[in-house]
Amino acid sequence: MDKKLKCPTCDDAELALTRLEGAKVWRCKICDGSWLGDKELAYLRMVKYKRYDPKEIVKVKLLREWKMTDGSMPPERLCPVCGELMARSHYEDIPAILQDRCAKGHGIWLNRGDLERIQINERAKEDKWWN
Ligand SMILES: [Zn+2]
Ligand SMILES: [Zn+2]
Repeated sequence: MDKKLKCPTCDDAELALTRLEGAKVWRCKICDGSWLGDKELAYLRMVKYKRYDPKEIVKVKLLREWKMTDGSMPPERLCPVCGELMARSHYEDIPAILQDRCAKGHGIWLNRGDLERIQINERAKEDKWWN
């Protein structure tokens, strides 16, 4: 993933390689979505959410309880690497967190804020917030 990658959400926006807690993450400056590999996601889940902020935890708790009722889904997305349609699922069955994943393993697309929510979710699991 060293060439230029286009954002799967925005027309003609390029993804910029950034580092998040040491992991390589491609970010779009326009929609603030993230593109990353399985290894990076696993790592970021492991380091969890370092800045412990109860307000953020409450937000994620609400997200977990929130049900997608209006059925509004963003359009399906194409992999920035191979251009094929990605498979969509809810991260750990959390209705509000969508992940688009390339079937060939090129990476995972997460919408604005969702990467952080995933980390908060890991922290919250560890601290038994959901029990
Ligand atoms: Zn974008
Ligand atoms: Zn792909």
